[in-house]
Amino acid sequence: MPDLPRTLWAAMARGIAGTCPRCGGAHLFARFLKPVARCPLCAQDWSVHAADDFPPYVAIIVTAHVMAPIMILLGSSATLPTWVLVAIALLIAMPMLMALLQPAKGGIIALQWWLGMAGFAPRPGKVEAGAE
Ligand SMILES: [Zn+2]
Repeated sequence: MPDLPRTLWAAMARGIAGTCPRCGGAHLFARFLKPVARCPLCAQDWSVHAADDFPPYVAIIVTAHVMAPIMILLGSSATLPTWVLVAIALLIAMPMLMALLQPAKGGIIALQWWLGMAGFAPRPGKVEAGAE
């Protein structure tokens, strides 16, 4: 019996960390944004997820909220030329965005699994963990 998460947040924390939301013992991703088809430890089928565009949306929202005050602060100082502002923005935003994509996708896959969305069985996370 796998070590099932007790709450949605525990499942999402596992997904954000890149481990299987169901058992927490194996990697969720085979490649950067490609989840494994099936967990090697608990045999959960991850091929049925449908995260689609939601992970990039989350990564963009978080990055934009961090970048906005930085750009307002830098933009209010009239000494920097525009190309320097653009270069600074790209140097901060692009790595941040890339670093957030996989955790966002892992969290979204865990959310879908917990709620029984996409191709997952209806509410498998809640039912399995006895949280009904
Ligand atoms: Zn697993």
